[in-house]
Amino acid sequence: MTDVVLVGGGPVGLSLALALRDSGRGLTVLEARPPGPVSDARAIVLSHGSRLILERLGVWAALAGQVTAITTIHVSQRGHFGRTLLNAADLEVPAMGYTVTYEALQAALAEQAIKAEVEIRYAAPVTEAKPGRVTYRQGDTTADLVADLVVLAEGGRGLPLAESTVKDYQQSAVVCWVESERPHAGRAYERFTPEGPIALLPMGSRYALVWTTPTDQVAERLGLADSDFLRTLYAAFGERQGRFVAAGVRTAFPLRMALRGPGDTAGLVRIGNAAQLLHPVAGQGFNLGLRDAWQLAECILDSASGTLDAADLMLRYSRARGADVPAGARMTDFLVDVFAHDPPVIAGLRGAALTALDLLPPLKNGFARKMMHGARTW
Ligand SMILES: Cc1cc2nc3c(=O)[nH]c(=O)nc-3n(C[C@H](O)[C@H](O)[C@H](O)COP(=O)(O)OP(=O)(O)OC[C@H]3O[C@@H](n4cnc5c(N)ncnc54)[C@H](O)[C@@H]3O)c2cc1C
Repeated sequence: MTDVVLVGGGPVGLSLALALRDSGRGLTVLEARPPGPVSDARAIVLSHGSRLILERLGVWAALAGQVTAITTIHVSQRGHFGRTLLNAADLEVPAMGYTVTYEALQAALAEQAIKAEVEIRYAAPVTEAKPGRVTYRQGDTTADLVADLVVLAEGGRGLPLAESTVKDYQQSAVVCWVESERPHAGRAYERFTPEGPIALLPMGSRYALVWTTPTDQVAERLGLADSDFLRTLYAAFGERQGRFVAAGVRTAFPLRMALRGPGDTAGLVRIGNAAQLLHPVAGQGFNLGLRDAWQLAECILDSASGTLDAADLMLRYSRARGADVPAGARMTDFLVDVFAHDPPVIAGLRGAALTALDLLPPLKNGFARKMMHGARTW
């Protein structure tokens, strides 16, 4: 019997494991993948708030040289007026956010987990999870693990889906690195087009591209010769960075929203993508998941010693996350919807909103702070 069983050693799961390392609680991580580096092409923008948490987890230093600071974010819509510029200097923070590859983030967390002697069982996919008990495979055998608390951090993919609000955006994110004629100088772009947003995120000397693409165009976009892909991107994005001159291997991620929530059964709690899977347009998924992990760790640390009171813990954790997660999900879904429609009247209202945001620093900075720290109840 251990105190906590954690299903999934992805970025959110390992963050929780690290946050609990000095808690005195027994914790076992069950991870479906084999040990070793992961292969995942996505880039993740860490918010300033996430940096602060990763510093406390001892992971930030391990990411040195692998994160690229974003000092300004340029938000605009193709073919219509209105734009806004979010500046780190206005918010008195060193950066609006930091781009890192999923692979580097996962490697830094895994390195810290080894140092902290977190018990991780790799190649151990969980096949069933119930309050206080999980069943997992290890080679040809099946085993059970019993704990006061089971935490699902498996990204919402590995286990039968719980009841959830699901929305299929009929879009995929086509991701790869690209090089532009002009240096990025720390500027990220979020450019809304009728087909979906295009994000260019400074990463090293290049950009990480996240190009939201309607499902029926994904295969074609993935299959284009590099030169045609770069030309199509230039036509869609515009000339702000000059021409695009090189691109890396392209991969696509289907985009859905699935809101399962932390759960309502004592002894079984969901965090990260297992609790809320969001469109990447606002770069909220991992940032929210990291706050889930941090808050759940705080609730566990605040528990009386001895057997965890699973019902009380669930209540405190659900309360703690009550505002942040719904606000992040609503804002993300709103952005996808509001920029997806192109009638002139809507485009005009959007343009006016972007301009108003730019002209009203308190409103703009308040919005940016929410993006960096979430809607706090803590
Ligand atoms: C294109 C794209 C861009 C993104 N950009 C951003 C961004 O800029 N900022 C941001 O904050 N977020 C971003 N996200 C979201 C972010 O990637 C996710 O929110 C984050 O990876 C969630 O982490 P997680 O640990 O919850 O889940 P995952 O990353 O899915 O990890 C889950 C882990 O659980 C393991 N697992 C699965 N099933 C089982 C099982 N049955 N048993 C045991 N283990 C299991 C998996 O092998 C994996 O290691 C983006 C997502 C995409 C697709």
